Amino acid sequence: MTDEKQVLLRAEDVKVYFKGKNKKSGTVKAVDGISFEIMRGETFGVVGESGCGKSTLGRSLIRLLPVTEGKVWLNGQDISGLKGQELKQMRKKAQIIFQDPSACLNPRRNIRQILMEPFEIHGMKGPEVDKRIEELMHLVGLDTYHLSRYPHELSGGQKQRIGIARALALEPDIIICDEAVSALDVSVQAQVLNLLQELKEKLGLTYFFISHNLNVVYQVSDRVGVMYLGRMVEIATYDQLYEKRYHPYTEALLSAIPQVDADQQGERIRLQGEVPSPSNPPSGCHFHTRCPRACGRCKAEAPQLREVADGHFVACHLYDDMAAGHENGENV
Ligand code: SF4
Repeated sequence: MTDEKQVLLRAEDVKVYFKGKNKKSGTVKAVDGISFEIMRGETFGVVGESGCGKSTLGRSLIRLLPVTEGKVWLNGQDISGLKGQELKQMRKKAQIIFQDPSACLNPRRNIRQILMEPFEIHGMKGPEVDKRIEELMHLVGLDTYHLSRYPHELSGGQKQRIGIARALALEPDIIICDEAVSALDVSVQAQVLNLLQELKEKLGLTYFFISHNLNVVYQVSDRVGVMYLGRMVEIATYDQLYEKRYHPYTEALLSAIPQVDADQQGERIRLQGEVPSPSNPPSGCHFHTRCPRACGRCKAEAPQLREVADGHFVACHLYDDMAAGHENGENV
């Protein structure tokens, strides 16, 4: 059983649906019934192909997008229906770092003004805020002389450090890192990942780390969730996934990661076909149209996410018996 004190965020059957652009496109089921927990102090990485709903999920967890159905609990509080002042107060505790630092920093404001924004929103100003802004610059490894610069005078890595400083400003409990290093050069990516790791340890942060790159997610995450077409199909710790993955989709994603040791490199599994549209997802298991192991049941019935080993969850009919054994306390 999960230690309630350690659970920072809980998602219960979260659904996020959008109306399609026209009648033909119907309802887009971007997130289609996801339940999981994020423990305090962990990095929960989420990976999946572009369009699988991971960014929508991240934004809905902190109410940047409305939740259509289901509940999200943060620090034991149901935040799914918060409005007005309550929602504003909650936002202090849950922040986001976006993918493209150039697009999310106002080019007309200097860095000091940009870092003032979160404080202004909450009516805070004065010497304490000035001191906090200088502290934030040091925390992200920038000098205070950068405060008078404008975004276009900074490199991509420096801009992302400002994005991180802004997210840290109000001392959040959880930060959604939405493809936070994807727009950076590989060498800068490593520096920013190291910085995020240092900050996590120093400030006791919790991250929900979104990336399409399983290699990056692997480097930073304590646990990894794999998403396919709006659903979570496998959740496990880094070590568990490295040792054994159960879902055919996870297997295919992992087979694409190059190994340093050529002997460890298995055969790459190439999935056939494109990811189906979330406005018209396949019946049953959404993955059945591309799954090399699909059977009749897969088309008719959606598999539930079940625990098949200690803390290792998978949604696939191939393992239902195994999961039943685990529930009965048998050694799987
Ligand atoms: Fe493949 Fe069926 Fe498992 Fe889905 S439920 S991943 S289609 S075997």
